[in-house]
Amino acid sequence: MPIINRIAEFQDDMIAWRHHLHAHPELSYQEVETAKFVAEKLRSYGLEVHEGIGGTGVVAVLYGQEESRRSIGLRADMDALAIEERNEFSHRSTRKGVMHACGHDGHTTMLLGAARYLSETRNFAGRIVFIFQPAEEMGGEDGGAARMIREGLFESFRCDEIYGIHNWPGMDVGTFAVKAGPMMASGDSFEIEITSTGMHAAQPQKGADVVLTAGHMLVALQQISSRNTDPLDALVVSATQIHGGDAYNVLPNCVTIRGTVRAFSPAARANAEPAIRRIAAGIAQSTGAHCAVNYEQQYPTLINNEDAAQTAEQAAKTIFGKVDTNPPHTMIVEDFAFMLEDRPGCYGWIGNGPDDNGRILHSAWFDFNNAALPYGASYFAALAESRFE
Ligand SMILES: [Zn+2]
Ligand SMILES: [Zn+2]
Repeated sequence: MPIINRIAEFQDDMIAWRHHLHAHPELSYQEVETAKFVAEKLRSYGLEVHEGIGGTGVVAVLYGQEESRRSIGLRADMDALAIEERNEFSHRSTRKGVMHACGHDGHTTMLLGAARYLSETRNFAGRIVFIFQPAEEMGGEDGGAARMIREGLFESFRCDEIYGIHNWPGMDVGTFAVKAGPMMASGDSFEIEITSTGMHAAQPQKGADVVLTAGHMLVALQQISSRNTDPLDALVVSATQIHGGDAYNVLPNCVTIRGTVRAFSPAARANAEPAIRRIAAGIAQSTGAHCAVNYEQQYPTLINNEDAAQTAEQAAKTIFGKVDTNPPHTMIVEDFAFMLEDRPGCYGWIGNGPDDNGRILHSAWFDFNNAALPYGASYFAALAESRFE
């Protein structure tokens, strides 16, 4: 089923935009050229364009043929990641150490495609607010979604509902998944700093060994999900960094552990912080080291509004035929969750094809699948054209 014909006609243009964006990736809040590219395209379609919202964000407004108070927000993200691309194709990154490894080049292109089509047809009621968000990968209160909201996004551009999509490797191109309620995890970060006086490696009796203390902590942190959390509730505590020591014959005076906590339920999330503090303090006390814990809540759980999920499903059905309404949960987080805390709306996943040979999100071998472009653009267009009571 059917991609919108007019969108299929300019698929080659979309591929060219996507390749341009892929070759010129920009990190969070540095999306200056990307934002300029987006704004120029939108202006050329006759949209009312506003730049510099939430740093490098771009917002554009388009009015439909039919009068209505209805105002729908459609959102794409624009930033790339600090990864050295390993692909060899001609549109590979031209910027050392920066790469579109999450497909935001594709997301931006799909929303631009929808804007082009809708500006030609205007076959909808009310208005569409196109939101090109910076810094999705930064996340948290500093990330692009929270910042755009803080800078008045929804006061300046009323959105009754808001929709976004992410490409999903492992789902076939031409497929779509969405569900009401929680769909993606909350994400927090923690840092444990373990300190002591430090001493000669041959004289461990002279102080507290912070390396050994860190080892005990790494193991004990795993009891939070296995022992302190309801077994039917999902929680991941991953220690992802450990730093300390410079010499083979010195027991250092400081080791730092950093990591992330992912959860679905508020209960599991709320339980994690005190558990980390308790374990860190207890183990430090047992070895005689000192410790300080810094815990930051970053991404809320992404929760799709029930009515909006229904609207998304209906719109998706017109493009994809059938829709997977019960995809597995993922512990991956998504900055769009902040927008969904503020406005009713829905996030969906669009198939990006096989996830083999490194074709996974945040991999140096990832590439957004061009074949998905007209599907995503058509889905956004179908949302705009769907009629609401
Ligand atoms: Zn990402
Ligand atoms: Zn992403």
